[in-house]
Amino acid sequence: MKMGKVGIFAGGVVIGLLLGCAFGCLKWKSQKLVVREPEIPGESRLEYTPPAEPKFSAEFMVKYLPLLLDMITPRVVKVTDDIYVAMGYAMGNVTMVITDQGLVIIDTTESEDAARRIFKDFRKITDQPVRYIIYTHFHPDHNQGTRAFYSEGVQILATREFLHWIHGRNPDLGNRHFQRSLDLLAGAVEPDYAFSLPFRSPFLAAGQTPEVMMPTLTFDQEYTFTLAGKRFDLFHTRGETEDHLAVWIPDERALQVGDLYYASFPNLTGILLEARPVPGWIESLTRFIELQPEYLILGHTRHLKGADLIQEHLRNYREAIEYVYEESLRAINQGKPVHQAVAEIKLPEHLADLPYLQGLYGRVDWSIRGIYQDYTGWYDGWGTKLFPLPPQYQAREIAALAGGADKILARAIALQKNDEHQLAAELCDIVIAANPRDKLAHTVKAHSMHYLAMSATNALAIGAYRSAYALHLKAAAGAALGQEF
Ligand SMILES: [Zn+2]
Repeated sequence: MKMGKVGIFAGGVVIGLLLGCAFGCLKWKSQKLVVREPEIPGESRLEYTPPAEPKFSAEFMVKYLPLLLDMITPRVVKVTDDIYVAMGYAMGNVTMVITDQGLVIIDTTESEDAARRIFKDFRKITDQPVRYIIYTHFHPDHNQGTRAFYSEGVQILATREFLHWIHGRNPDLGNRHFQRSLDLLAGAVEPDYAFSLPFRSPFLAAGQTPEVMMPTLTFDQEYTFTLAGKRFDLFHTRGETEDHLAVWIPDERALQVGDLYYASFPNLTGILLEARPVPGWIESLTRFIELQPEYLILGHTRHLKGADLIQEHLRNYREAIEYVYEESLRAINQGKPVHQAVAEIKLPEHLADLPYLQGLYGRVDWSIRGIYQDYTGWYDGWGTKLFPLPPQYQAREIAALAGGADKILARAIALQKNDEHQLAAELCDIVIAANPRDKLAHTVKAHSMHYLAMSATNALAIGAYRSAYALHLKAAAGAALGQEF
């Protein structure tokens, strides 16, 4: 009986298929898809006179001169009678806390040379031995100068997460990408075109990263120790990184927050790097606000003094992060594409003009892009990008439709003359995608990258544009693009 039903069903399906084929709504074999690589367009042969050298904005320099000077003028700044911060010797600051039984050092910069100069200057203030070294997090500008301060028996403290991240930002990825991304952001991909910094940080030069001295003691959430009656509370505070910690010294009402606060909109998602724990950053700031510090000591830039001022800064900082985070999630839930979210989400007026929320390092638009990437993955929902063709397919079709790569480049050059450098670069990208050996396309784009670098007001963007400038000049001279990055 049962078999009989199956037989009737199978028979029905076969008859249905035959009828479907007969009436043309079914096809016996599946549709054949054609993938044909279009022809490479001929190399452009236009006459091209590069634009005049772009100039850096004096207005920008004047506005941020105090901040810049703070970062590049080596000196030891007194915070309290017992706390000093060395800044300007390297990228990262070093904090020294003096007790009657020895010193606590927080972070050691990215350079052993710089750390030795710092320790020499600390020695003008105290001859107490170093007892503890604390790493706020695994970023190289905070832990590569340790040997300058270290001697037998010194405790090196960090969170347990530090061990996970220091062995490679992501142990499966390793450090190679991290090193290359630092080189790229610093504009140091091609040393000839790198900015010459007043201090030469080892990790800004392409090559080896110094070996980091490992912690002798790690903790999960909190760790407290006392030295000569002075208490040090270490908290695991996520944000800039997953392994980050802050140091609270209640006797001094001083809080060292590493890179969880600095004088720029925070780098919530670094370009080329993994997403950062944004909700963790908000929680960390809430904890700092509750401690009501009188002194806020930082991993970069100058410390803040005064409970009211610090409350104001921390609250505004937290509000800005919360705003960008919540508005990004709202836009995702409303189904808005990322470019629309970026165009629409701006900091509220009372935050937008604050000098410590400008996009000098992190940026609101990059943060939105990072949050989108982190929360929604790579697919945009519109079908085409499920299985996209390599970029040369579309680029060669466009070049053919335009009547050749020359036509596209002529327009790019006209845009460049009109200072429309972003669009000029995007047109150059089409020609380069169609034919990576088109020297003129690389040359024109290089000059627009140079202009964009000189008009950028974000440290990472300047480095990234400088790197692109260098790579395209190299490609224009005949090198194959794509090997460097
Ligand atoms: Zn740092």
